[in-house]
Amino acid sequence: MSKAKLTFAGGAGTVTGANFLLESDDFKLLVDCGLEQGEEFCERCNFDDFIYDPASVDVLIITHAHIDHIGRIPRLVRDGFKGVIYSTPSTRDIAEVMFADSVRILGFKAKEEKTEPLYEAEDVVKTMGLWKSIKYHEETDIGGGFKLNLKDAGHILGSAIVELARNGKKIVFTGDLGNTPAPILRDTEKIEGADYMLIESVYGDRNHEDKDERNAHLKKAILDTQSRNSVLMIPAFSIQRTQLLLYEINNFVEDKEIEEIPVYLDSPLAIKVTNLYGKYLNNFNENVQKEIREGDNIFEFPKLAFTSRVEDSKAIAKAPSPKVVIAGSGMSMGGRILHHEKKYLEDSKNILLIVGYQAVGTLGRKIADGAKEVVIFDEKVNVRAEVRVIHGFSAHKDSENLVSFVEDSASTLKQVFVCMGEPKSASFLAQRIRDFLDVPAIVPNKGDVIEIEL
Ligand SMILES: [Zn+2]
Repeated sequence: MSKAKLTFAGGAGTVTGANFLLESDDFKLLVDCGLEQGEEFCERCNFDDFIYDPASVDVLIITHAHIDHIGRIPRLVRDGFKGVIYSTPSTRDIAEVMFADSVRILGFKAKEEKTEPLYEAEDVVKTMGLWKSIKYHEETDIGGGFKLNLKDAGHILGSAIVELARNGKKIVFTGDLGNTPAPILRDTEKIEGADYMLIESVYGDRNHEDKDERNAHLKKAILDTQSRNSVLMIPAFSIQRTQLLLYEINNFVEDKEIEEIPVYLDSPLAIKVTNLYGKYLNNFNENVQKEIREGDNIFEFPKLAFTSRVEDSKAIAKAPSPKVVIAGSGMSMGGRILHHEKKYLEDSKNILLIVGYQAVGTLGRKIADGAKEVVIFDEKVNVRAEVRVIHGFSAHKDSENLVSFVEDSASTLKQVFVCMGEPKSASFLAQRIRDFLDVPAIVPNKGDVIEIEL
């Protein structure tokens, strides 16, 4: 029986920094190479040496283009990686946009702190030169006896479940798994016959409200904003969450469930990504493709403004209420949302709508946890605005759906590794997998090395 070694180099015991090394004989492959994020966009530990030699790695496979899955790749290249990078075509395109944004943020930070940036534009150019796009289900021989198949994860545009087969055995890296049913994208594919599975657990211990409930909350927030003549702020992740919000607001307006209201998409990054979504319509689910065929531009409605330019962004403050501002970053760690929060959080008529996971230590988490006073741009801000949280817009599967996903392979699974979640969430999911499915499941720690049969 041939053996392989799985190293949890990152993304174990924590949500961010996904980085998993699989070695067999002389062949080394990585799945994801993400930034560790917390209070900072880029935590200091990202500057540490990789726990393996990047030059010795043959292949890097990317599940999807969120920064906690790709954000450290240019550093890996800077430190010697020369292998092939595989992903879906849309992941490649989004990654390129995300790297440009990271270089800007990292450069700014380095200047401020008078240090070296984690990587620079030239590292990104080298990185993109190593990239090879493969389509979903395009089985690819990647060396070392491994056959790679990318399956739809339904999480964000381009997101894939990585399926690796070797010697009649199969190991699966889920990356992040999309909420079910997927509102714009195709649903997560079923994975059967896996021997090993490394699964995410961001919402391992919680269930989401359903689609109707989540939409009712969003609609109510808009209606309340209109009746109060106030401001609705929505900090939103640039990929998927923003497009989903636009899609749902577009439906409300078209179905005349709300009166038209000025909506500002105030994020150059989210605007670029929204344009990329428009390029990959074939990644959408059948219902949405039908709407598009029937002539609906799903990311466009009256009074929606894309404010890429700084002047346009600044002009939002002068625009009359009511208005809705969707801006990054999704956890209020930076980006234009901070300007709006600084200006509008003090007024009790306004609403801050939190629609995504907020990592421990971030400003978004502090506000979601009920902080009455926060600091933005070195100034004290009293949080008097109404803070509402909707979990149903999450781009992640909830606890129940994660267990169902594992269940499809329950009869063949030898071991499940529960990763990419806070410890409480990961342990809860591992326990449920053991209790309900009778499948061995563990929560590895960062740096753990486990031998598997592959
Ligand atoms: Zn993700």
